[in-house]
Amino acid sequence: MRFFYFYKMKIEDLYQLYSIHGLVDTDTRNIRQNTIFFALKGENFNGNKFAEEAIDNGASYAVVDEEAYNTSEKTILVDNVLETLQKLANYHRNQLGLPIIALTGSNGKTTTKELINAVLSTKYKTTATVGNLNNHIGVPLTLLSMNRDTEIGIVEMGANHHKEIAFLSEIAGPDYGYITNFGSAHLEGFGSLEGVVKAKSELYEYLRKHNKKVIVNPNDAKQIEHTKGMDSVWFSNDIKYLDADPLVRFSYQEKIITSNLIGVYNFANISAAITIGNYFKVTPEQIKEAIENYIPSNNRSQVIKTERNTIILDAYNANPTSMKAALESFEALKSAHKTIIIGDMFELGEYSSKEHQKIADIVQEFNFNSVFLVGENFYKTTTEFKKFKNFTELAEYLKFNPINKSTILVKGSRGMALERVVEFC
Ligand code: ATP
Ligand code: MG
Repeated sequence: MRFFYFYKMKIEDLYQLYSIHGLVDTDTRNIRQNTIFFALKGENFNGNKFAEEAIDNGASYAVVDEEAYNTSEKTILVDNVLETLQKLANYHRNQLGLPIIALTGSNGKTTTKELINAVLSTKYKTTATVGNLNNHIGVPLTLLSMNRDTEIGIVEMGANHHKEIAFLSEIAGPDYGYITNFGSAHLEGFGSLEGVVKAKSELYEYLRKHNKKVIVNPNDAKQIEHTKGMDSVWFSNDIKYLDADPLVRFSYQEKIITSNLIGVYNFANISAAITIGNYFKVTPEQIKEAIENYIPSNNRSQVIKTERNTIILDAYNANPTSMKAALESFEALKSAHKTIIIGDMFELGEYSSKEHQKIADIVQEFNFNSVFLVGENFYKTTTEFKKFKNFTELAEYLKFNPINKSTILVKGSRGMALERVVEFC
Protein backbone atom coordinates (compact mmCIF):
# COMPACT_ATOMS: atom_id res chain seq x y z
CA MET A 1 0.00 0.00 0.00
CA ARG A 2 1.32 3.41 -0.88
CA PHE A 3 1.69 6.31 1.54
CA PHE A 4 -0.45 8.44 -0.77
CA TYR A 5 -3.57 6.62 0.32
CA PHE A 6 -3.29 7.83 3.90
CA TYR A 7 -2.84 11.48 3.07
CA LYS A 8 -5.92 13.43 4.11
CA MET A 9 -6.47 16.11 1.57
CA LYS A 10 -6.70 19.78 2.51
CA ILE A 11 -9.67 21.85 1.28
CA GLU A 12 -7.36 24.07 -0.81
CA ASP A 13 -6.07 21.03 -2.68
CA LEU A 14 -9.49 19.53 -3.09
CA TYR A 15 -10.62 22.89 -4.45
CA GLN A 16 -8.00 22.69 -7.17
CA LEU A 17 -9.49 19.39 -8.27
CA TYR A 18 -13.05 20.72 -8.09
CA SER A 19 -12.11 23.79 -10.09
CA ILE A 20 -11.13 21.77 -13.14
CA HIS A 21 -14.71 20.77 -14.02
CA GLY A 22 -16.73 22.45 -11.27
CA LEU A 23 -18.92 19.42 -10.70
CA VAL A 24 -19.85 17.50 -7.57
CA ASP A 25 -22.34 14.65 -7.20
CA THR A 26 -23.66 12.65 -4.28
CA ASP A 27 -25.84 10.09 -6.00
CA THR A 28 -24.35 7.29 -8.09
CA ARG A 29 -27.65 6.87 -9.94
CA ASN A 30 -27.03 10.09 -11.80
CA ILE A 31 -23.33 10.66 -11.85
CA ARG A 32 -21.98 13.18 -14.33
CA GLN A 33 -18.74 12.72 -16.25
CA ASN A 34 -15.67 14.29 -14.59
CA THR A 35 -17.56 15.02 -11.41
CA ILE A 36 -16.24 14.60 -7.86
CA PHE A 37 -18.37 12.08 -6.01
CA PHE A 38 -18.96 12.77 -2.31
CA ALA A 39 -19.67 9.54 -0.45
CA LEU A 40 -22.24 10.80 2.03
CA LYS A 41 -23.77 8.63 4.71
CA GLY A 42 -27.44 8.42 5.54
CA GLU A 43 -29.49 6.48 8.03
CA ASN A 44 -29.82 3.57 5.64
CA PHE A 45 -26.85 3.86 3.35
CA ASN A 46 -23.11 4.34 3.34
CA GLY A 47 -21.92 6.28 0.30
CA ASN A 48 -18.40 4.92 0.79
CA LYS A 49 -19.68 1.64 -0.62
CA PHE A 50 -20.54 3.36 -3.89
CA ALA A 51 -17.23 5.16 -4.40
CA GLU A 52 -15.90 2.58 -6.79
CA GLU A 53 -19.13 2.51 -8.78
CA ALA A 54 -19.07 6.30 -9.06
CA ILE A 55 -15.57 6.19 -10.49
CA ASP A 56 -16.55 3.41 -12.89
CA ASN A 57 -19.47 5.55 -14.04
CA GLY A 58 -17.27 8.51 -14.88
CA ALA A 59 -16.45 10.43 -11.69
CA SER A 60 -12.91 11.84 -11.69
CA TYR A 61 -12.60 11.33 -7.94
CA ALA A 62 -14.54 9.98 -5.00
CA VAL A 63 -14.25 11.55 -1.56
CA VAL A 64 -14.55 8.89 1.15
CA ASP A 65 -14.16 8.79 4.92
CA GLU A 66 -13.52 5.12 5.57
CA GLU A 67 -10.06 3.77 4.94
CA ALA A 68 -11.41 0.49 3.63
CA TYR A 69 -12.84 2.33 0.63
CA ASN A 70 -9.78 4.43 -0.04
CA THR A 71 -8.68 2.00 -2.67
CA SER A 72 -7.24 3.88 -5.65
CA GLU A 73 -5.55 7.05 -6.89
CA LYS A 74 -9.03 8.33 -7.57
CA THR A 75 -10.31 8.03 -4.02
CA ILE A 76 -9.66 10.88 -1.61
CA LEU A 77 -9.71 10.12 2.10
CA VAL A 78 -11.01 12.77 4.49
CA ASP A 79 -12.15 12.75 8.13
CA ASN A 80 -15.77 13.41 7.31
CA VAL A 81 -17.29 13.60 3.84
CA LEU A 82 -20.26 15.80 4.78
CA GLU A 83 -18.08 18.34 6.58
CA THR A 84 -15.69 18.35 3.64
CA LEU A 85 -18.55 19.07 1.25
CA GLN A 86 -19.70 21.95 3.45
CA LYS A 87 -16.20 23.38 3.79
CA LEU A 88 -15.58 23.11 0.07
CA ALA A 89 -18.86 24.93 -0.62
CA ASN A 90 -17.93 27.73 1.75
CA TYR A 91 -14.44 27.97 0.27
CA HIS A 92 -15.97 28.20 -3.20
CA ARG A 93 -18.49 30.80 -2.04
CA ASN A 94 -15.62 32.97 -0.78
CA GLN A 95 -13.69 32.59 -4.02
CA LEU A 96 -16.72 33.66 -6.06
CA GLY A 97 -17.34 36.92 -4.24
CA LEU A 98 -20.79 37.43 -5.75
CA PRO A 99 -23.88 38.70 -3.94
CA ILE A 100 -25.89 35.93 -2.35
CA ILE A 101 -29.49 36.27 -1.25
CA ALA A 102 -30.59 33.81 1.45
CA LEU A 103 -34.16 32.93 2.23
CA THR A 104 -35.69 31.15 5.13
CA GLY A 105 -39.05 31.16 6.94
CA SER A 106 -41.84 28.78 7.81
CA ASN A 107 -43.79 29.00 4.55
CA GLY A 108 -43.23 30.30 1.08
CA LYS A 109 -39.45 29.92 0.80
CA THR A 110 -39.45 28.00 -2.46
CA THR A 111 -42.16 30.14 -4.04
CA THR A 112 -40.34 33.33 -3.07
CA LYS A 113 -37.01 31.92 -4.22
CA GLU A 114 -38.50 31.07 -7.59
CA LEU A 115 -40.14 34.49 -7.91
CA ILE A 116 -36.89 36.27 -7.04
CA ASN A 117 -35.07 34.09 -9.53
CA ALA A 118 -37.66 34.81 -12.22
CA VAL A 119 -37.29 38.54 -11.67
CA LEU A 120 -33.50 38.71 -11.36
CA SER A 121 -32.81 36.34 -14.24
CA THR A 122 -34.34 38.84 -16.66
CA LYS A 123 -31.21 40.93 -16.16
CA TYR A 124 -28.56 38.72 -14.52
CA LYS A 125 -27.09 35.27 -14.72
CA THR A 126 -28.45 33.73 -11.56
CA THR A 127 -28.01 30.41 -9.84
CA ALA A 128 -30.72 29.40 -7.40
CA THR A 129 -31.50 26.41 -5.24
CA VAL A 130 -32.95 23.67 -7.42
CA GLY A 131 -36.35 22.55 -6.17
CA ASN A 132 -36.30 22.28 -2.43
CA LEU A 133 -32.63 21.36 -1.81
CA ASN A 134 -32.46 23.58 1.25
CA ASN A 135 -30.71 21.61 3.99
CA HIS A 136 -27.14 20.95 5.20
CA ILE A 137 -26.46 19.05 1.96
CA GLY A 138 -28.65 21.03 -0.44
CA VAL A 139 -27.17 24.41 0.52
CA PRO A 140 -23.57 23.28 -0.16
CA LEU A 141 -24.67 21.70 -3.45
CA THR A 142 -26.42 24.92 -4.44
CA LEU A 143 -23.26 26.93 -3.72
CA LEU A 144 -21.11 24.47 -5.64
CA SER A 145 -23.45 24.75 -8.63
CA MET A 146 -22.53 28.44 -8.95
CA ASN A 147 -19.68 29.29 -11.28
CA ARG A 148 -17.69 32.26 -12.53
CA ASP A 149 -20.54 33.28 -14.83
CA THR A 150 -23.00 33.49 -11.95
CA GLU A 151 -23.80 37.10 -11.08
CA ILE A 152 -26.26 36.57 -8.23
CA GLY A 153 -26.90 33.49 -6.10
CA ILE A 154 -30.25 32.73 -4.47
CA VAL A 155 -30.18 30.19 -1.67
CA GLU A 156 -33.15 28.64 0.10
CA MET A 157 -32.44 27.53 3.66
CA GLY A 158 -34.70 25.18 5.53
CA ALA A 159 -34.54 24.11 9.14
CA ASN A 160 -36.39 22.01 11.62
CA HIS A 161 -33.99 22.51 14.51
CA HIS A 162 -32.25 25.34 16.29
CA LYS A 163 -28.79 26.42 15.06
CA GLU A 164 -29.39 25.03 11.57
CA ILE A 165 -29.98 28.43 9.98
CA ALA A 166 -26.94 29.84 11.81
CA PHE A 167 -24.88 26.99 10.42
CA LEU A 168 -26.22 27.30 6.86
CA SER A 169 -25.64 31.07 6.99
CA GLU A 170 -22.00 30.51 7.91
CA ILE A 171 -21.62 28.24 4.88
CA ALA A 172 -23.48 30.44 2.39
CA GLY A 173 -22.30 33.81 3.68
CA PRO A 174 -25.33 35.76 2.44
CA ASP A 175 -25.14 39.46 1.64
CA TYR A 176 -28.93 39.78 1.69
CA GLY A 177 -31.51 37.88 3.66
CA TYR A 178 -35.26 37.57 3.82
CA ILE A 179 -37.45 35.59 6.20
CA THR A 180 -40.76 34.87 4.48
CA ASN A 181 -42.71 34.48 7.71
CA PHE A 182 -42.71 33.02 11.19
CA GLY A 183 -45.34 30.32 11.52
CA SER A 184 -46.12 27.14 13.30
CA ALA A 185 -44.24 24.69 11.13
CA HIS A 186 -41.90 22.04 12.57
CA LEU A 187 -43.10 22.70 16.11
CA GLU A 188 -41.70 19.29 16.96
CA GLY A 189 -38.13 20.49 16.52
CA PHE A 190 -38.55 24.10 17.63
CA GLY A 191 -40.67 23.57 20.74
CA SER A 192 -43.00 26.56 20.25
CA LEU A 193 -43.79 29.51 18.01
CA GLU A 194 -41.26 31.56 19.97
CA GLY A 195 -38.78 28.80 19.20
CA VAL A 196 -39.56 29.19 15.50
CA VAL A 197 -38.98 32.94 15.65
CA LYS A 198 -35.68 32.43 17.41
CA ALA A 199 -34.51 29.74 15.01
CA LYS A 200 -35.41 31.62 11.82
CA SER A 201 -33.94 34.82 13.25
CA GLU A 202 -30.53 33.19 13.22
CA LEU A 203 -30.40 34.54 9.66
CA TYR A 204 -30.97 38.06 11.01
CA GLU A 205 -28.22 37.52 13.57
CA TYR A 206 -25.79 36.52 10.85
CA LEU A 207 -26.69 39.55 8.73
CA ARG A 208 -26.50 41.89 11.71
CA LYS A 209 -23.11 40.59 12.78
CA HIS A 210 -21.67 40.99 9.29
CA ASN A 211 -23.39 44.30 8.44
CA LYS A 212 -25.37 42.78 5.62
CA LYS A 213 -28.78 43.81 4.35
CA VAL A 214 -32.16 42.48 5.32
CA ILE A 215 -35.38 42.68 3.29
CA VAL A 216 -38.35 43.54 5.49
CA ASN A 217 -42.08 43.08 4.98
CA PRO A 218 -43.55 46.18 6.67
CA ASN A 219 -46.83 44.33 7.28
CA ASP A 220 -45.13 41.78 9.51
CA ALA A 221 -44.68 43.12 13.03
CA LYS A 222 -42.28 40.31 13.98
CA GLN A 223 -40.00 41.12 11.06
CA ILE A 224 -39.91 44.78 12.06
CA GLU A 225 -39.25 43.94 15.69
CA HIS A 226 -36.42 41.53 14.98
CA THR A 227 -34.63 43.66 12.39
CA LYS A 228 -34.49 46.89 14.39
CA GLY A 229 -31.33 48.82 13.75
CA MET A 230 -30.30 46.63 10.83
CA ASP A 231 -29.41 47.79 7.34
CA SER A 232 -32.88 47.19 5.86
CA VAL A 233 -34.64 47.36 2.52
CA TRP A 234 -38.37 47.63 3.10
CA PHE A 235 -40.92 46.45 0.56
CA SER A 236 -41.38 49.03 -2.19
CA ASN A 237 -44.43 51.11 -1.32
CA ASP A 238 -45.63 51.26 -4.91
CA ILE A 239 -46.86 47.65 -4.78
CA LYS A 240 -50.57 47.61 -3.96
CA TYR A 241 -52.74 44.60 -3.32
CA LEU A 242 -56.00 44.42 -5.30
CA ASP A 243 -57.55 40.98 -4.82
CA ALA A 244 -57.06 37.20 -4.98
CA ASP A 245 -60.06 35.72 -6.73
CA PRO A 246 -58.52 33.24 -7.04
CA LEU A 247 -55.34 34.67 -8.63
CA VAL A 248 -53.44 37.38 -6.81
CA ARG A 249 -53.86 40.73 -8.54
CA PHE A 250 -52.01 43.86 -7.59
CA SER A 251 -50.61 47.04 -9.03
CA TYR A 252 -46.96 47.92 -9.26
CA GLN A 253 -46.04 51.46 -10.23
CA GLU A 254 -49.64 51.96 -11.38
CA LYS A 255 -49.54 48.94 -13.70
CA ILE A 256 -52.03 46.17 -12.93
CA ILE A 257 -50.49 42.72 -12.74
CA THR A 258 -52.29 39.37 -12.49
CA SER A 259 -50.07 36.61 -11.18
CA ASN A 260 -50.59 32.88 -11.58
CA LEU A 261 -50.55 32.44 -7.83
CA ILE A 262 -53.51 31.89 -5.57
CA GLY A 263 -53.85 32.88 -1.93
CA VAL A 264 -53.49 36.31 -0.38
CA TYR A 265 -50.31 35.08 1.34
CA ASN A 266 -48.57 34.95 -2.01
CA PHE A 267 -48.81 38.73 -2.22
CA ALA A 268 -46.01 38.97 0.35
CA ASN A 269 -43.90 36.49 -1.62
CA ILE A 270 -44.41 38.51 -4.79
CA SER A 271 -43.68 41.79 -3.01
CA ALA A 272 -40.37 40.43 -1.75
CA ALA A 273 -39.37 39.46 -5.28
CA ILE A 274 -40.34 42.86 -6.68
CA THR A 275 -38.48 44.69 -3.92
CA ILE A 276 -35.32 42.70 -4.57
CA GLY A 277 -35.69 43.14 -8.33
CA ASN A 278 -36.13 46.85 -7.87
CA TYR A 279 -33.10 46.98 -5.58
CA PHE A 280 -30.98 45.29 -8.25
CA LYS A 281 -32.28 47.72 -10.88
CA VAL A 282 -34.46 45.36 -12.87
CA THR A 283 -36.88 47.56 -14.81
CA PRO A 284 -40.59 47.65 -13.86
CA GLU A 285 -41.43 46.20 -17.29
CA GLN A 286 -39.11 43.24 -16.77
CA ILE A 287 -40.46 42.73 -13.26
CA LYS A 288 -44.04 42.75 -14.53
CA GLU A 289 -43.26 40.24 -17.23
CA ALA A 290 -41.38 37.94 -14.87
CA ILE A 291 -44.21 37.86 -12.33
CA GLU A 292 -46.88 37.38 -14.97
CA ASN A 293 -44.98 34.50 -16.54
CA TYR A 294 -44.18 32.67 -13.34
CA ILE A 295 -46.25 29.49 -13.05
CA PRO A 296 -45.94 27.52 -9.82
CA SER A 297 -45.19 23.83 -10.09
CA ASN A 298 -45.08 20.86 -7.72
CA ASN A 299 -48.68 21.15 -6.56
CA ARG A 300 -47.88 24.54 -5.08
CA SER A 301 -51.05 26.53 -5.39
CA GLN A 302 -52.26 25.47 -8.82
CA VAL A 303 -55.72 26.04 -10.23
CA ILE A 304 -56.99 22.98 -12.09
CA LYS A 305 -60.28 22.90 -13.98
CA THR A 306 -61.74 19.41 -14.30
CA GLU A 307 -64.95 18.58 -16.17
CA ARG A 308 -67.01 18.92 -13.01
CA ASN A 309 -65.11 21.23 -10.68
CA THR A 310 -62.43 23.85 -10.18
CA ILE A 311 -59.67 22.64 -7.92
CA ILE A 312 -57.30 24.83 -5.98
CA LEU A 313 -54.53 22.35 -5.51
CA ASP A 314 -52.23 23.27 -2.65
CA ALA A 315 -51.22 19.75 -1.76
CA TYR A 316 -47.49 20.30 -1.63
CA ASN A 317 -47.38 20.83 2.11
CA ALA A 318 -49.25 22.06 5.14
CA ASN A 319 -48.72 23.27 8.66
CA PRO A 320 -51.08 25.17 10.97
CA THR A 321 -50.04 28.60 9.67
CA SER A 322 -50.21 27.81 5.96
CA MET A 323 -53.45 25.85 6.50
CA LYS A 324 -55.07 28.82 8.20
CA ALA A 325 -53.79 31.21 5.51
CA ALA A 326 -55.17 28.93 2.78
CA LEU A 327 -58.57 28.62 4.48
CA GLU A 328 -58.88 32.38 4.98
CA SER A 329 -57.90 33.02 1.41
CA PHE A 330 -60.39 30.40 0.20
CA GLU A 331 -63.13 31.93 2.31
CA ALA A 332 -62.61 35.22 0.49
CA LEU A 333 -63.30 33.69 -2.94
CA LYS A 334 -66.58 34.54 -4.60
CA SER A 335 -67.48 31.01 -5.82
CA ALA A 336 -71.08 29.91 -5.29
CA HIS A 337 -70.21 26.46 -3.94
CA LYS A 338 -67.09 25.65 -1.94
CA THR A 339 -65.62 22.36 -0.79
CA ILE A 340 -62.52 21.80 1.27
CA ILE A 341 -60.53 18.58 1.34
CA ILE A 342 -57.82 18.97 3.93
CA GLY A 343 -55.34 16.39 5.15
CA ASP A 344 -53.13 15.86 8.19
CA MET A 345 -50.30 18.22 9.04
CA PHE A 346 -47.12 16.37 10.03
CA GLU A 347 -44.12 17.10 12.25
CA LEU A 348 -46.11 18.76 15.02
CA GLY A 349 -45.00 16.38 17.77
CA GLU A 350 -46.86 16.88 21.04
CA TYR A 351 -48.81 19.80 19.51
CA SER A 352 -50.36 17.58 16.88
CA SER A 353 -53.78 16.78 18.33
CA LYS A 354 -54.27 20.33 19.61
CA GLU A 355 -53.34 21.91 16.26
CA HIS A 356 -55.59 19.56 14.29
CA GLN A 357 -58.46 20.32 16.64
CA LYS A 358 -57.78 24.05 16.22
CA ILE A 359 -58.04 23.76 12.45
CA ALA A 360 -61.25 21.71 12.71
CA ASP A 361 -62.64 24.46 14.96
CA ILE A 362 -61.56 27.23 12.60
CA VAL A 363 -63.29 25.46 9.71
CA GLN A 364 -66.45 25.48 11.82
CA GLU A 365 -66.41 29.29 11.75
CA PHE A 366 -66.41 29.41 7.97
CA ASN A 367 -69.33 28.64 5.73
CA PHE A 368 -67.97 26.07 3.35
CA ASN A 369 -70.60 23.93 1.63
CA SER A 370 -68.73 20.66 2.10
CA VAL A 371 -65.85 19.68 4.32
CA PHE A 372 -63.72 16.54 4.14
CA LEU A 373 -61.03 15.86 6.73
CA VAL A 374 -58.48 13.19 5.85
CA GLY A 375 -55.86 11.37 7.88
CA GLU A 376 -55.40 9.76 11.27
CA ASN A 377 -54.93 13.04 13.09
CA PHE A 378 -57.97 14.78 11.71
CA TYR A 379 -59.86 11.55 12.27
CA LYS A 380 -59.29 11.94 16.01
CA THR A 381 -60.70 15.48 16.16
CA THR A 382 -64.08 16.19 17.66
CA THR A 383 -66.16 17.59 14.85
CA GLU A 384 -69.29 17.03 12.85
CA PHE A 385 -67.53 17.16 9.51
CA LYS A 386 -66.96 14.09 7.37
CA LYS A 387 -63.75 12.39 8.43
CA PHE A 388 -61.71 9.72 6.71
CA LYS A 389 -58.89 7.72 8.30
CA ASN A 390 -56.87 7.73 5.12
CA PHE A 391 -56.87 8.62 1.47
CA THR A 392 -58.25 5.27 0.30
CA GLU A 393 -61.39 5.76 2.39
CA LEU A 394 -61.88 9.24 0.96
CA ALA A 395 -61.39 8.03 -2.61
CA GLU A 396 -63.86 5.22 -2.06
CA TYR A 397 -66.42 7.71 -0.74
CA LEU A 398 -65.93 10.14 -3.63
CA LYS A 399 -66.47 7.39 -6.17
CA PHE A 400 -70.04 6.95 -4.96
CA ASN A 401 -70.69 10.52 -3.84
CA PRO A 402 -69.08 12.70 -6.49
CA ILE A 403 -68.54 16.42 -5.97
CA ASN A 404 -70.09 18.60 -8.67
CA LYS A 405 -69.92 22.23 -9.70
CA SER A 406 -67.80 23.19 -6.76
CA THR A 407 -64.58 25.08 -6.15
CA ILE A 408 -62.46 22.69 -4.12
CA LEU A 409 -59.51 23.57 -1.90
CA VAL A 410 -57.11 20.63 -1.51
CA LYS A 411 -54.37 20.95 1.09
CA GLY A 412 -52.35 18.65 3.34
CA SER A 413 -48.81 17.67 4.30
CA ARG A 414 -46.54 16.18 1.65
CA GLY A 415 -46.90 12.70 3.12
CA MET A 416 -50.66 12.83 2.51
CA ALA A 417 -50.09 13.31 -1.25
CA LEU A 418 -53.57 14.76 -1.61
CA GLU A 419 -52.98 15.60 -5.27
CA ARG A 420 -54.24 12.04 -5.80
CA VAL A 421 -57.72 13.39 -5.20
CA VAL A 422 -57.78 15.27 -8.51
CA GLU A 423 -58.79 12.19 -10.48
CA PHE A 424 -61.82 11.75 -8.22
CA CYS A 425 -63.04 15.31 -8.72
P1 ATP B 1 -40.69 23.79 2.53
O1 ATP B 1 -40.54 23.94 4.02
O2 ATP B 1 -41.33 22.52 2.12
O3 ATP B 1 -39.41 24.05 1.79
P2 ATP B 1 -41.45 26.39 1.59
O4 ATP B 1 -41.24 27.30 2.75
O5 ATP B 1 -40.41 26.34 0.55
O6 ATP B 1 -41.77 24.92 2.10
P3 ATP B 1 -43.40 26.77 -0.51
O7 ATP B 1 -43.05 25.45 -1.08
O8 ATP B 1 -43.05 27.98 -1.27
O9 ATP B 1 -42.85 26.87 0.97
O10 ATP B 1 -44.97 26.82 -0.23
C1 ATP B 1 -45.59 25.78 0.48
C2 ATP B 1 -46.98 26.18 0.88
O11 ATP B 1 -46.92 27.20 1.90
C3 ATP B 1 -47.78 26.84 -0.24
O12 ATP B 1 -48.40 25.91 -1.03
C4 ATP B 1 -48.76 27.68 0.55
O13 ATP B 1 -49.84 26.92 0.99
C5 ATP B 1 -48.00 28.11 1.78
N1 ATP B 1 -47.44 29.49 1.73
C6 ATP B 1 -46.65 30.00 0.78
N2 ATP B 1 -46.27 31.25 1.07
C7 ATP B 1 -46.84 31.55 2.27
C8 ATP B 1 -46.80 32.68 3.13
N3 ATP B 1 -46.08 33.78 2.81
N4 ATP B 1 -47.51 32.63 4.28
C9 ATP B 1 -48.22 31.51 4.62
N5 ATP B 1 -48.28 30.41 3.86
C10 ATP B 1 -47.61 30.41 2.70
MG1 MG C 1 -39.13 24.87 0.03
